[in-house]
Amino acid sequence: MNSHELAAGAGLPVGRFAPSPTGPLHFGSIVAAVGSCLAARAAGGRWLLRIEDVDTPRSVPGAADGILRTLARFGFEWDGPVVWQSARTLAYEAAFERLRAAGRVFGCACTRKEMADSALARDGTRRYPGTCRDGLPAGREARAWRLRVAPGVVSFDDAVQGPVEEDVAADVGDFVLLRADGLFAYQLAVVVDDAEAGVTDVVRGADLLDSTPRQILLQRALGYPTPRYAHLPVAGNAAGEKLSKQTLARAVEDARPQQVLADALDFLGQAPPDGLVDASLDALWAWARASWSMDRVPRQRLVPAPRYG
Ligand code: GLU
Repeated sequence: MNSHELAAGAGLPVGRFAPSPTGPLHFGSIVAAVGSCLAARAAGGRWLLRIEDVDTPRSVPGAADGILRTLARFGFEWDGPVVWQSARTLAYEAAFERLRAAGRVFGCACTRKEMADSALARDGTRRYPGTCRDGLPAGREARAWRLRVAPGVVSFDDAVQGPVEEDVAADVGDFVLLRADGLFAYQLAVVVDDAEAGVTDVVRGADLLDSTPRQILLQRALGYPTPRYAHLPVAGNAAGEKLSKQTLARAVEDARPQQVLADALDFLGQAPPDGLVDASLDALWAWARASWSMDRVPRQRLVPAPRYG
C-alpha cells in the first residue's frame, strides 16, 4: 500500500492540482490550486501535483518549470514526486488495452471535416454521429479510437455546483480515447492518473464540469471508484470571459504571493481578514487551512476577477 492509499484508507481526502503547461499560471489557476489544496489539507489529507503534458503539441517549453517555481514561491507544498503525464504512456496504454479487450473501443476513420456537420456538444466539440461504431466503411482505416458509449443519464452531485446530469451518448456520443496523432486523450489520462494516485477529491475549475460525466463513464468502464467532485467558479475578465492565455490574463509569477493568495481566498468566499496580505506566507496558509469551508464557495460557474483580467 503506498502512502496515498494509506491516506485514502484512513478516510482522509487525497486531492490534486493538475495544471497543463501551456503558459504561466494566471489567477484562475491559482484559485484551482488554492481550492484543491485547502480542501485536502484542511481535512488532514494529502495533495498531489501532476503536470498535464499529455497533449505534447500544446505544451510550451519551459512552462512546466515556471509553474513549479511559482507554486513553490507561493508556499504550496505537495506530497510525493510531481507526476508528468508525458512519462505515463504505458499506464494509458494498459488501460486502453483493457477497454479494447472488453470490446468497449472501436476504430474510427472520420476526419474532422467529415464531422463538421454534426451537432455541437455542450463543451463546443462535435457530437460523434456513430459513423464507424459498427465497423469501418470499406477501404477506410482507423485514425482514432473511441469509447463505445451506451445511452443513459450519468449523474453526480457536485459539492459546489450541485446536481449535474448528462446523457453522454446523446450529447457527446462515442468519444476519443486515442487520437489520430497517436496521443492518448486528456479524458483517459486524467481518469487513469487520478485512480492510480488514489485521488478521492477532484477540485478544479468549472470549465471542466462538462468533461466529468465522460470521466465517470470511463471510471466505470475501467472498474475504478468515482471520486467526489467540486467544480470551483472560474475567474472571468470584465467581458465575462474565462481568464486564459487567449484573453491575455496577467501572469501571477511576479506578483506578491500574499496578495494573490488573499485575493484567491476572497474569490472563493473565504472572507480573509484585511491583515492577511501583510502576514508571512506561513501565517497566511495556517489561517487558510484553519478557516477553509467549501460551503462558502460561490455556487457559480464564473465569477469576475477584474484585477487579474
Ligand atoms: N489540466 C487541466 C487544466 O489545466 C486540468 C485537468 C483537471 O484538473 O482534471 O485545465
